[in-house]
Amino acid sequence: MTVANDTIVALATAPGESAVAVIRLSGPSALALAARRFRGRRSPEESPGHRILFGRFVGGDGAAIDSVLLAVFRAPRSYTGEDVVEISSHGGAAVPRAILEALVAGGARPARPGEFTERAFRNGKLDLAQAEAVAALVRARSERAARAAEATLGGALTRRVAALDAEMVSLSAEVEARIDFPNDVGEPIDGAALAARCAAIEARVAAWITAIPSARRRDDGVRVALVGRPNVGKSSLLNALVGYDRAIVSASPGTTRDTVESSIWLDGVELRLIDTAGWRDAGDAVERLGVERTERAIEACDLTVLVLDRSGTEEEEDGGWLGGRSLAGRPLVVAWNKADLAPVAAGGGHGDGGRGDGDPGGDAGDRGGGGDRRFARPLAEVETIAIRPGGAEPLLAALRSAMPRVLGEHAGEELPTTSARQEALLVEARDALRRAETGLRADHSYDLVAVDLADARRALGEVVGRGVGPDVTAAVFARFCVGK
Ligand code: GDP
Repeated sequence: MTVANDTIVALATAPGESAVAVIRLSGPSALALAARRFRGRRSPEESPGHRILFGRFVGGDGAAIDSVLLAVFRAPRSYTGEDVVEISSHGGAAVPRAILEALVAGGARPARPGEFTERAFRNGKLDLAQAEAVAALVRARSERAARAAEATLGGALTRRVAALDAEMVSLSAEVEARIDFPNDVGEPIDGAALAARCAAIEARVAAWITAIPSARRRDDGVRVALVGRPNVGKSSLLNALVGYDRAIVSASPGTTRDTVESSIWLDGVELRLIDTAGWRDAGDAVERLGVERTERAIEACDLTVLVLDRSGTEEEEDGGWLGGRSLAGRPLVVAWNKADLAPVAAGGGHGDGGRGDGDPGGDAGDRGGGGDRRFARPLAEVETIAIRPGGAEPLLAALRSAMPRVLGEHAGEELPTTSARQEALLVEARDALRRAETGLRADHSYDLVAVDLADARRALGEVVGRGVGPDVTAAVFARFCVGK
């Protein structure tokens, strides 16, 4: 472990106009550097830890830059485990920069992204899983994402790994006992019993891996694509949902040339609504670009909202405008828009009469014509009037009730925030456990089984940072923001 002996400094709050900015200093000279620029009743060098001092911060010329609050933390009782001073000044561009410059002139080094948390990790304040949770918490865009990250920071993932590891240790011990003392094991436990224990651990790791996509939707948001022919009212619906004019609404088809994404939050989950350029034969290059982007957005979406025109001026259900593409793999909600223009047919209602009454059954599963299913069976069908206040409410209600299905069952806080790095290691651990299990069932030599089990333990340990190399930690912390 390298012991940092320099003192780092960075702006810990977002730059820009704000009431308050926080500048963070950490390292052996943090108290002395702050003391040199601070004029108050008590010097930070003489202050005990966990105290707040009020005074003026002065520049190199001795002139006051700002009135500040200094929070003093003494090693090891601080975020990084080192001496830390957090200076709260007024926000904005000039004051925090002048304070930073004065501290750098005094000998502090500008911190790299994530360097404070990296020091916390090196000083044993956090393991790598908790450090990753810090980044996830800062990045969280919804309440549920934040709660899961907070639980992870509190050790939820670390405890999960520890529980699995404890079982692996005891299994490894039994396997190794058979290597060292092959004839000395009291009652013979056959390979099948050990294999079953191995399979049980493997199943728990596999269940974790299976739950990750659901947790990702919780953490990164559910991507909802609004699709449909040009002019059916996709942009208007999106605007109505978001509550302000985010997309450009235009009466001429094909003018929504790019995908526009806006978010709404339902029950603590972010819904990333993607308006799409109409699927039509694109004219110019710009329009083609929009269509390509649409296709990518739709491929990546978690839920499709199919917007159809209730005014009945065009044949809606032939799906010709889909151009042979299929959306059958995604959960679907159908919005019959322009319900205010619905033709009043003698028999009352339009076609099969199944719309707008919340009946998701009927022939809807075959929408797209001729029985070739271009869409999944809808979770809900509603009627909307995008241009009327409150006219998109039925769609909002349908989205809300579709959410549990779309999120999946692991979107609560029970599953810790799991990064891509951690997921890859869990897959390694599962595969190694699978090899060990196969080996035990096939009566392979215990030496080989022990190697597989050791491999599984190594991968699992790396999830929380045990035994990882400096390149791995560097990659993790490089994704942080400066000041964290
Ligand atoms: P998009 O191409 O699917 O995004 O459609 P737009 O949202 O741009 O809407 C096309 C036209 O239909 C605009 O003139 C809208 O004002 C109009 N429109 C959208 N929704 C409704 C609706 O529910 N009722 C009526 N009467 N007009 C609508």
